[in-house]
Amino acid sequence: MCSSSVIYGRKVDLIAMLDTTVIQEFQRIVGTNHALQEEALTTSYTTDWTGRFKGASPMVLRPANTSQVSELVKVALSAGLSIVPQGGNTGLVGGSIPLHEEIVISTLRMDHCDPVDALAQQVTVDSGVTLAQAQTHVSPFDLEIGVDLAARDSCTIGGMIATNAGGINVVRYGPMRDQLLGIEAVLSDGSVISHLEGLEKDNTGYNFPGLLAGSEGTLAIITKARLRLHPRPSERCSAMIAFKTVDDAVVATSQLRRALPALQAVEVIFSEAMSLVSNHIGASVPVGAGSQAWLIVEVAANTDPTDELAHAIDDLGPLAVDVAVGLDTATRNGLWQYREKITEAIATQGTPHKLDVTLGASRLSEFVTEVPALISRVDGQATTVMFGHLGDGNVHVNILGAGGDEPNEGVDDVVLNYVAQLGGSISAEHGIGTAKREFLHLNRSEAELAAFRAIKKGLDPRGVLNPNVLIPPEYS
Ligand SMILES: Cc1cc2nc3c(=O)[nH]c(=O)nc-3n(C[C@H](O)[C@H](O)[C@H](O)COP(=O)(O)OP(=O)(O)OC[C@H]3O[C@@H](n4cnc5c(N)ncnc54)[C@H](O)[C@@H]3O)c2cc1C
Repeated sequence: MCSSSVIYGRKVDLIAMLDTTVIQEFQRIVGTNHALQEEALTTSYTTDWTGRFKGASPMVLRPANTSQVSELVKVALSAGLSIVPQGGNTGLVGGSIPLHEEIVISTLRMDHCDPVDALAQQVTVDSGVTLAQAQTHVSPFDLEIGVDLAARDSCTIGGMIATNAGGINVVRYGPMRDQLLGIEAVLSDGSVISHLEGLEKDNTGYNFPGLLAGSEGTLAIITKARLRLHPRPSERCSAMIAFKTVDDAVVATSQLRRALPALQAVEVIFSEAMSLVSNHIGASVPVGAGSQAWLIVEVAANTDPTDELAHAIDDLGPLAVDVAVGLDTATRNGLWQYREKITEAIATQGTPHKLDVTLGASRLSEFVTEVPALISRVDGQATTVMFGHLGDGNVHVNILGAGGDEPNEGVDDVVLNYVAQLGGSISAEHGIGTAKREFLHLNRSEAELAAFRAIKKGLDPRGVLNPNVLIPPEYS
């Protein structure tokens, strides 16, 4: 069966790109049912979650274990093929999509969790385990994974490591890199590195988990991870607080961080995002209609943290316009849906440009206030919808209606340059992928990019693994 596809306006006979013996080798390794060729079967692996990135692949391979990944990589290397590693395909910067006719290695069948090591408070899981699956696995031990995000039902532990995912609890537990005590991965020559003992102290040279966290599939295919677990607090309380200005919300965030050692999350919804999500879920704004910003704050502890949260909010004085508190699970979930449904609400409006940035606390208010005007100067049709993780200075800038389906370089250019000018990061937690590759120089010096190239060349001299992601072409 031969399949063809349009890639950036070009008709490509994809299957013809692969030698018959290579196809047979791939089929032998994973089984014919897991070596997908027909376009109808590969489409969900070649288009991203937002619909912004559409690629095509001659073959999507679904290995069941590390040794199959290793064998596949060896065949690809000797056939001169490039690989896009893929987990849940929820990434938002195009890093998991075969935009250059690469083959895809999907980890979704690698979904085994080892028994929880309750003594050490650790667990080893396959890279294709979804976050929700891992959460369910550790929950009977009153333990939790330190990173949580709204894509939990689909995103995988391997993808979360590869992107160094952040999410809603970074303010307490740090990003994915901080959860890693060991890793197993397949390198570009098919060799396997495995260091899963989970020792808290282990200064025996280079730290592979640290290196692979945020490497976006360019250095190795992660096959297993040893994760640090955290005792799950038994009591939780959430509040939504409305603020007249963005600046007030920023000042309040700083005060709450100082006052609440049990702070688990400080999320922010700005006005456009609040109207969009309220319409989407068919509910009114819970508190402070007409405000500029709302924080959703969660505290979690083993003794009821409600009083602690109430005092901290009282101490905000006139900064807080109005407050709604969620004590039981249903009310808490009711408040959280305003934050968790935003991405979905945006997706109903078209294909957004998503820019995920971090600003220092002192520049946040200026950024949020200025950026919609900057964007409309480039594209008069564009609407800017912002929300994010204010406790980490992380703002998600979503631009709707900007210049059709193709990335509007003008809008990206103006926002990312502005971020760099304010001393911020052009990627807070989504990574660089293909979307921000050409902007990486805004945050990384010549010397750093040269070091990136040296690391890439050292571990992947033939450019087998995600060669078109993260590192700008001139440094590849
Ligand atoms: C609704 C929604 C909410 C989100 N919220 C957040 C959020 O709060 N915080 C956040 O950080 N992100 C968020 N994201 C983005 C996304 O969920 C994360 O980037 C996630 O970590 C990607 O995991 P994945 O398994 O889907 O990876 P994929 O999308 O499949 O891949 C992402 C990158 O990792 C590489 N990769 C995947 N698996 C492996 C592997 N096993 N070995 C090596 N490389 C690999 C890919 O090549 C690609 O470069 C959100 C996305 C959605 C759709």
